[in-house]
Amino acid sequence: MSGSPPDPKALMSEEDIIRLVQSLAGESKDELWVGIGDDAAVLNLGGRGFCVTTDLLVEGVHFDLSYTGPHDLGWKAMAANLSDLAAMGARPRWGLFSLGLPPRPPRRLVESILGGVMEMCRRHNLTLVGGDTVRSPQIVINLCLIGAVETKSPALRSGARPGDAVCVSGPLGSSAAGLAWLKSGGAADDGQAAWAVAAHLRPEPRVAAGRALAQSERVHAMMDLSDGLASDLARLCAASQVGARVEESLLPLAPQAAGLAAQLKADPIQWALTGGEDFELLVTCAPGNVELLAELAADSQKGVSLRRVGEITRGRGVVLARADGSEEEITLQGFDHFREEKSP
Ligand SMILES: [Mg+2]
Repeated sequence: MSGSPPDPKALMSEEDIIRLVQSLAGESKDELWVGIGDDAAVLNLGGRGFCVTTDLLVEGVHFDLSYTGPHDLGWKAMAANLSDLAAMGARPRWGLFSLGLPPRPPRRLVESILGGVMEMCRRHNLTLVGGDTVRSPQIVINLCLIGAVETKSPALRSGARPGDAVCVSGPLGSSAAGLAWLKSGGAADDGQAAWAVAAHLRPEPRVAAGRALAQSERVHAMMDLSDGLASDLARLCAASQVGARVEESLLPLAPQAAGLAAQLKADPIQWALTGGEDFELLVTCAPGNVELLAELAADSQKGVSLRRVGEITRGRGVVLARADGSEEEITLQGFDHFREEKSP
């Protein structure tokens, strides 16, 4: 091995890789309504829109079986994909499930992972229609889901306008709190952290709320929060060619977040901004429609509480207005799959 470090320009970030694929894939064709760059691709087949999304989870990167039970794993893999369909306002229809496993996999492991996948299929009326199995040094799960667009057009990342309210559909940072608790050696069934562990292991994708919001035709832009508000809002802003200003005092945290954060010597605001895996919806709309959309979202799905966290601006990037009056740029502070090691 040579001792000289590689030229940083020869290395790629996640965004670089997405841009490269995008440039090689070329322009949208007739039956492609939405191509690379949103939560899901949208195909226009015979006048009907279908969303297609896929997600890959790798043992040791996205999960660790010492914290995540195999049933949770199947559930969570489905939740991550369903959340992308929710972000488009689509109705889940069909899925392909692929599994990579080390040699001689225990029956109980496979049945439990599938149990989690099938539980989510039943809850969301989704039918598995295929997939693949492969031998792998660690567990790898891939899902590809197809959903039907039931509105005139799917909700996209690119529709945000300056002056829009930026809203989220529920508390932020709960999943990160749950992960921090489990990594600290806390028991999964400990009463004081049960809310956070549940948010981390069994997230509830906002499928019904996403459909109701898209059907209202009052949403300008929508995506789901998978990597954290800081990076996901920056992606929405880039797609819409706008900026955003988020107010720290408006960030919704779970009521118990401050107590758990103090105990773990963590910052609950950091959990909310960069924690990821909350699978809430990020929505922009005219400020006068926030109340109406909040009612619609709450009526459509239990546990959903849409609230404003900031506004879309004419600038670029995402600025955080701190409670003490200071401001800082937080663009892309969330998770880049290739920037650093993410411990599960
Ligand atoms: Mg997404």
